Amino acid sequence: MAGTEKSRRGRKPAAEDERKDKVIQTRVPRDLESSLKEAAERERVPVSQLIRNVLEDSFDLVESVVADSSQLVENVTRDARRIAESAAGARKDDEPFVPADQGGEQARTLMEAVDAWQDVIVNKPGHCVQCGAAVKRGSRAFRGLTTDPGMPVVWLCGDCIEAL
Ligand SMILES: [Zn+2]
Repeated sequence: MAGTEKSRRGRKPAAEDERKDKVIQTRVPRDLESSLKEAAERERVPVSQLIRNVLEDSFDLVESVVADSSQLVENVTRDARRIAESAAGARKDDEPFVPADQGGEQARTLMEAVDAWQDVIVNKPGHCVQCGAAVKRGSRAFRGLTTDPGMPVVWLCGDCIEAL
C-alpha cells in the first residue's frame, strides 16, 4: 500500500506534448551538415532545433501562402516534399557512425547535448557514443538524458563513464 502511495507521489509524467514528440533520424551530405552546424551556431541553437524550425517553417509556409500564390505554393510544396523524401529515403548504412574517440563530429555534438548520464540496464542494444563499443541487451550502460526531444538515444559504456 505504501508503495502505491509512493509511486503516486513520484515523478510527474512527461507533458503531453513531450510524449507526442517523435524522433526522426536522417543522413545528410557532409557539406550540408557543416552548413547546418554553421547556421545553428549563428542562431545559437542546437542543430536539431534548427532543423525542426526549418521543417516547421516550410510546412507553415505551405499552408499560409495557399491563398496568395499558387506558383509559390508549388515551389514550397516541392521543397517540403523533397525534405520529406530525403528523410524517408535516408539509409542507415551508407556512412557508419564514428564514435567521438575517433573524431566523430556527430558523436561529439550528441555528447554535448547530454545533460546527465543515467545508469540503466539496456534493452535495445546500441553503441557507446564515445568509444563505439557495443552496448548489449541486458548489460549495464549509461543513457544520455537531454531536454532536446529531437535527440536520438545516446549510450555511454562503463569504461567511458569512468573516464568522464
Ligand atoms: Zn565507451
